[in-house]
Amino acid sequence: MSARILRNYVNGKWVESVSSSCLDVENPSTGEIIARMPLSTSDETCQAIELAHSAYQSWKDIPVARRAQYLFELLSLLRNNEEKLARVLSEEMGKSLPDARAELKRTFENVEVACSMPVLQQGDKVVGSSFDIDGEVLRLPMGVFGLIAPFNFPAMVPFWFIPYAISTGNTYVAKPSEQVPCTMQLITEYIDQIGLPPGVFNLVNGDKTVATALMDHPLIQGISMVGSSNVCRQVAERCARNNKRYQAMGSAKNHLVVMPDTPVVEVVRNMISSCYGCAGQRCMAASAIVCVGDETHKAVTDEFIKASAAVIVANPLDPKVADEQMVMGAVISAKAKNFILEMIDTGIKEGATLALDGRGLVVDGCENGHFIGPTVFTDVKPGMKIHSTEIFGPVVVILKVDTLDEAIKIINDHQYGNGASIYTQNGYWARRFKLETKAGMIGINVGIPAPVAYLPFGGMKSSQWADIKAQGKAVINFFTEDKIITERYWKED
Ligand code: NAD
Repeated sequence: MSARILRNYVNGKWVESVSSSCLDVENPSTGEIIARMPLSTSDETCQAIELAHSAYQSWKDIPVARRAQYLFELLSLLRNNEEKLARVLSEEMGKSLPDARAELKRTFENVEVACSMPVLQQGDKVVGSSFDIDGEVLRLPMGVFGLIAPFNFPAMVPFWFIPYAISTGNTYVAKPSEQVPCTMQLITEYIDQIGLPPGVFNLVNGDKTVATALMDHPLIQGISMVGSSNVCRQVAERCARNNKRYQAMGSAKNHLVVMPDTPVVEVVRNMISSCYGCAGQRCMAASAIVCVGDETHKAVTDEFIKASAAVIVANPLDPKVADEQMVMGAVISAKAKNFILEMIDTGIKEGATLALDGRGLVVDGCENGHFIGPTVFTDVKPGMKIHSTEIFGPVVVILKVDTLDEAIKIINDHQYGNGASIYTQNGYWARRFKLETKAGMIGINVGIPAPVAYLPFGGMKSSQWADIKAQGKAVINFFTEDKIITERYWKED
């Protein structure tokens, strides 16, 4: 049976793309083709933008509390279908079911936060900014916004933006990642059921062509982009040239620093889920461990290698393992796997020690899956490519230093600064780490310091290409324009 062809959702209707080119959407665990995604054209994208712009003319005037009502409805539909969504997400992305459910929880949380828009969008007013004059800040919607999404969080990342954009009174055109379009296809079926006015939310499947049309169209007010830093830079340059708002969250190399005072077994258990959850393809996945002191280094390295070797690698939808908390699935594609294998070769050539080798792993019954087992390098020095590059797979490098200062310097000298964590019970060390480390999201005894939806999400340095972060109150600034009013009335005789 041939795989179904995905559709676009434009102006409140499901439409087939006019494009004759499609990409295969693959289950990375089995290699099976689960859908075919149309490579929509530039013209189709422009048409969706123009219809979204027409919808904006009346959507902006719907009272904010009414706009939020649609989100309450969506939340309930999404929650009632959590398990179905988790399976679709796991099938196309390869993450475990518990990981998929956790992603969905965060997805729903973003809808909950955006449901508070009647409070969150309130502006400011100063009565008496001068004699008989009042000052007021209005936080107004702007028009049509666009999304360019990555593969690793097919539901959550789009929901860092969509609920906030539409509840603030804007309309939206979303482009999911071409590698994982099925989750947003299903979510859009639920969006279709909540009865939004046509054109408020639109889904256009495609690749760079759709992304470029979004960035170039004069009616698009701003772009939210999440992906590799190389693409972030291109998006930032193009949006700046076109005088559009943009926010672009990029690549990462997240460090975990272990101080000598921490309980090693507990810490390693915490690290394992950070390093290998989602096969190391979370933007908050830890991939560099920095041990402070010889004893810490020896104890952590021994325990980490032992625990890494024990990680179950399997098809996450295999009923035998489906509900295990720590199952590692495949990486997203053959291309991604080849890049990771190249990086492992690079590490060997650079002189690091391959202490645990995940190459050559085959999962029974999944011979076409893109699996790599947990891989650990020791004797790693800052500046080696395996340390400076985002590998985005289950490859962990371990470094040794003598002091906390050296550990912080390694993180601060790195090109990326998304997340960083310290393991310690010592408040002085923790405080210094919190204040001095150049990373946008800091963990203290937390291996994945991914903030909840009502706090901002975003990194520093080359991990973040604009100052406005995702989700929560922060993103409302992105989707609204301040208009500042100064008003006075003369006394009537
Ligand atoms: P990617 O950069 O390959 O693709 C992301 C999106 O950009 C896709 O929708 C793609 O179609 C589009 N795209 C590709 N080339 C483009 C171009 N030249 N112009 C405009 N759009 C273009 O990223 P990916 O492989 O899908 O996702 C993984 C990356 O995303 C990793 O680097 C990861 O760290 C990062 N990420 C970061 C965060 C964060 O919050 N910082 C969150 C999730 C993922």
